[in-house]
Amino acid sequence: MKFPDTFIKKYQQLLGDEAEAFFKTFDQEAISAFRINPLKANIKKFDTPINNMPWSYYGKVSGKSSDHVTGLVYSQEPAAQMVAQVASPKKGMKVLDLAAAPGGKTTHLLSYLDNTGILVSNEINHKRSKILVENVERFGARNVVITNESATRLAKVFPNYFDLIVLDAPCSGEGMFRKDPAAIQYWNEDYPSQCAKVQQEILRDALDMLAPGGSIVYSTCTWSPEENEDIVRWLMEIDYNLSLEMIPKENGMVSGIDMPEVARMYPHRFKGEGQFVAKLRDTQTHQTSSKLKSARTNLTREQVQLWEEFYRRKVNTDLSGVLQVFGEQLYLLPNHLPDLSQLKIARNGLHLGTFKKKRFEPSFALGLALHPDEVDQVIEMTQEDFKKYVSGQTVSLPKSYANDWYYIAIEGNGIGFAKVVDKTLKNAFPKGLRFS
Ligand code: SAM
Repeated sequence: MKFPDTFIKKYQQLLGDEAEAFFKTFDQEAISAFRINPLKANIKKFDTPINNMPWSYYGKVSGKSSDHVTGLVYSQEPAAQMVAQVASPKKGMKVLDLAAAPGGKTTHLLSYLDNTGILVSNEINHKRSKILVENVERFGARNVVITNESATRLAKVFPNYFDLIVLDAPCSGEGMFRKDPAAIQYWNEDYPSQCAKVQQEILRDALDMLAPGGSIVYSTCTWSPEENEDIVRWLMEIDYNLSLEMIPKENGMVSGIDMPEVARMYPHRFKGEGQFVAKLRDTQTHQTSSKLKSARTNLTREQVQLWEEFYRRKVNTDLSGVLQVFGEQLYLLPNHLPDLSQLKIARNGLHLGTFKKKRFEPSFALGLALHPDEVDQVIEMTQEDFKKYVSGQTVSLPKSYANDWYYIAIEGNGIGFAKVVDKTLKNAFPKGLRFS
């Protein structure tokens, strides 16, 4: 791999004796890994576990496999997986993932929350926010709202609101050079300090959203001190209530530069790509009295009846939250959210389904968010049927069923609801996701 001379000099100075080992890793392949999704009903074990990481395995998963399509696995290299692990949100927390697409940290945070609390997952870039929606839906969590906003606009709606804020910041991306060598062409000596300015702007807004006593996890996938330790030092200068938490150094993580609490991941030390992570806690203890206007339901009586009729017949688990309808689409928002009407929303909570003249049709997302034992009846499909189904074909069933919507599963995990007419399963796999 060819680097600019200024890059080589910088890291020779920074790493001293270790620089040679560091540069040698760029001639090796990037490390692939994935996480298993604990929110799914049928969890598998694989034979390449990563030490000290509860859901992680080395290796690649095909995007065409049923494990991927049902959301049982999420591909993410090991160093990136340390960010949500450092954050480790407790159940019931209100969490913000401020720069979230495509969703690696978000889905990992959701694994910890286990369908409790709230995750607001934000992505400023519209196109990337769509990918985030797709990945979150597949993951099957019920407690996420996805916004497509700037941090500044979010801060107006969520003052002092979050117990935990994760900022996986836009950065110079040096740690991704091995995975994506084309990224080197954007690098120049001044790039890290340009990125640092953006990181400071986002963090100022993040501070406004942090609840007293809350935590901020700040990460980048770069090694430049300007975007890492310098940013942490600056943050503690502008908010003297923040204190650094010690991150346990596992699997080859090392301390920061003159900052033992934070963690760096270098490919010659840690089997993965590049990452920096810091955790800061607000030491204030006083409570703010929240006067936020809450999100409210807006369904007609007929819509409530149609949803309740479906819910009673088909679902046997508690789906509490605030029901909201947009056009014909019904969503379930987690409780205790403020009014979000001033924000650009990419996914208003869990998409439950669509109202069609006097009928309610369940969504694909709802089928991914429920377990087989939370619905009245399950049709389990074979791997052969799965291949037909994901390519958009109808599937013949071995016996007849009453014409209705059914929860469809493959290897014990949901793949949406579909309509059955006699012995035929109509295809309800979203057109945009089909493949053969
Ligand atoms: N956390 C993601 C994950 O684990 O999949 C990766 C996030 S990536 C490192 C940084 C993200 O920040 C990008 O998706 C980018 O669109 C977004 N971004 C860029 N400029 C931003 C800004 N000014 N405010 C907020 N987010 C920004």
